[in-house]
Amino acid sequence: MNTQITYLKSVGTARADLLKKELGIKTYADLANFFPFRYIDKTQFFKTNQLSNTNTEVQIIGKIANIKTVKQKRGSRLTAQFFDEFGSIELVWFQGAKWIKNNLKPNVKYVCHGKTAVYNGKFSITHPELELLSEYNNSLRSSMQAIYHSTELLTKKNVSNRVISKMMQNLFFEIKGKFTETLSPEIIKKLNLVSKNEAMFNIHFPSSQELLLKSQFRLKFEELFYIQLQLIRKNLIHKTKFKSYKFDKIGNNFNDFYANTLPFELTNAQKRVLKEIRKDLNTGAHMNRLLQGDVGSGKTIVALLSMLIAIDNEFQASLIAPTSILAMQHFESFTELLKDTDIKVALLQGATKVKARRIIHEGLENGEINILIGTHAILEDKVVFKNLGMALIDEQHRFGVKQRSKMWLKNKFPPHILVMTATPIPRTLAMSVYGDLDISIIDELPPGRKEIKTVHRFDKNRLAVWKFLRDEIEKGRQVYIVYPLIDESEAMDYKDLMDGFESISRDFPKPKYQISIVHGKMKPEAKDYEMERFSKGETQIMVATTVIEVGVNIPNASVMIIESAERFGLSQLHQLRGRVGRGAAQSYCILMSSYKLSAQAKERLATMVQTNDGFEIAEVDLKIRGPGNIMGTQQSGILNLKIADIVKDNQILKLAREAAKYIVLNDPNLEKIENVIISNTYKKIMKNDSLWMNIS
Ligand code: ADP
Ligand code: MG
Repeated sequence: MNTQITYLKSVGTARADLLKKELGIKTYADLANFFPFRYIDKTQFFKTNQLSNTNTEVQIIGKIANIKTVKQKRGSRLTAQFFDEFGSIELVWFQGAKWIKNNLKPNVKYVCHGKTAVYNGKFSITHPELELLSEYNNSLRSSMQAIYHSTELLTKKNVSNRVISKMMQNLFFEIKGKFTETLSPEIIKKLNLVSKNEAMFNIHFPSSQELLLKSQFRLKFEELFYIQLQLIRKNLIHKTKFKSYKFDKIGNNFNDFYANTLPFELTNAQKRVLKEIRKDLNTGAHMNRLLQGDVGSGKTIVALLSMLIAIDNEFQASLIAPTSILAMQHFESFTELLKDTDIKVALLQGATKVKARRIIHEGLENGEINILIGTHAILEDKVVFKNLGMALIDEQHRFGVKQRSKMWLKNKFPPHILVMTATPIPRTLAMSVYGDLDISIIDELPPGRKEIKTVHRFDKNRLAVWKFLRDEIEKGRQVYIVYPLIDESEAMDYKDLMDGFESISRDFPKPKYQISIVHGKMKPEAKDYEMERFSKGETQIMVATTVIEVGVNIPNASVMIIESAERFGLSQLHQLRGRVGRGAAQSYCILMSSYKLSAQAKERLATMVQTNDGFEIAEVDLKIRGPGNIMGTQQSGILNLKIADIVKDNQILKLAREAAKYIVLNDPNLEKIENVIISNTYKKIMKNDSLWMNIS
């Protein structure tokens, strides 16, 4: 299997170079693992007078005549007649004319295969696949013809699908079905899988639809199984190798707060997640946990309670927020919640004055400060903790991996890490790309929340929308109007924002209406000042770009208007909507758009109108955009799959994960005799192409 592809019959050095360059195929094994991406039914033959549709794949038996070169505006094309006893069609080539001219034989029967078109009232096939009928009858025939991905250069150099098929045949004749089994007998039996040999043969030369499906299943399963095995083992290794502090006490800080101060009963989801965190903290292994929960699901209180556990065990804790507005909000709510305790909370941000900063540095070093809240100013080298036991990060997607890893350098052990995010990761991705992280999910909103009502409106409805706004403001509510700012440097976007601001100022005149504006080009102080005014209720309307996307909590704001909503991605729309629906009042989200909408934009807006569930939205997003476009997945090798598709093959992924878990649970080091095949295969995979696995 490691033989260089040059040595395969019908390949040679020129083609070998081409295969390597275009498809990454170097060895026999590479070729065998170059799987078809679709199949066509080869049982049916058409007669030339039976063609009725264009753009359908057909195969016809006939002979070639009348080959000629036709001059055209640029270059020339080659045409030929292909005829059978009932009539004829035209064959057309724009490339490779010389080779075709020299190789096509008149008066022998060919099987012609390709896509139909109509040109000058006559059926034609461009760049047909032609195979001598005699060869066709002798080849490894199957009812389903495998179709392989090709490239422009391959087509140009006449390495057609037929040529690849031929190579594949030669390969299978030569190796005579000697594929080493890669799954254990136990798994094969349990899941009723076909053998590696059978699967490999039938994926290229399916002898029936049923065997093809079984072979695809087996190969997809195998691929996903070994990825899951890597992820699960990595997680296990993390737990056994990376030590951290053991928080085995639940003391007064936690208990008193829970019994006396906690302003509400935790939801069941919050309780479950807290239990998961408590369990992690008590093992002595390093916690590396992602806490997912939709906007408003109550992650903050879980964060606070976790910090109290750290403090009960005489450690400090820190919380990093992505913006100073958010950091301030957390600081204020923590200070308020902890006002009857001895726990000292400090706030550190870029704007903190030198003197205040010095006091904070001291407090952190001598342990007087228990909780530090701040922006990434916390990550500066000068900030040294006496004993940081736990680091929490709010809204993970705003931080780079490197920034986070700095937190680890402060102590003897790395602090336990809890990353909170409101951007739900689809379960599918969570299982695959983020499979090495521990994940907790708050999938329940606190009781009494009213569903945000979402509607989609067009520019011509603006008068009605403005009237609705006036009515809501009349009732004492506040309103966000958000403009797209996809690219900070996009001058047009700023113009839209400023134009919008002007016309809103006209339609909502002072002194009756007060309007705030916040965007990325403003100085942080000016931004904070405007946010402050809105937060205090001094202004009723907040015109903004997506800077308000993350975490801002102003319960009295109950209407979110998103301008040019078709330009936003789904998760962004959902984040923005989450800024309302935080208070007692019924909240609304109005998506404004133009009439010209792409199919995808329509689907995005319809999804927003239809559901408030962040996980459902994340799944739709994944379906629309494909896994490669979801944040953080690009760097992961996991998406370079040969045959499986983590979205479409979700069910197989689940089975593979279960199987991998079962193996690791019973045989963590893959030492048992019954797992010898798995262990060998695993080692080989790890040696060749282990995943880029440090997403977490
Ligand atoms: P997010 O998960 O978006 O960070 P927050 O932690 O800001 O959400 O919580 C949103 C609001 O819900 C806050 O005002 C918080 O006090 C409130 N809240 C959180 N948990 C509960 C609960 N179990 N019962 C009632 N209200 C809650
Ligand atoms: Mg939050």
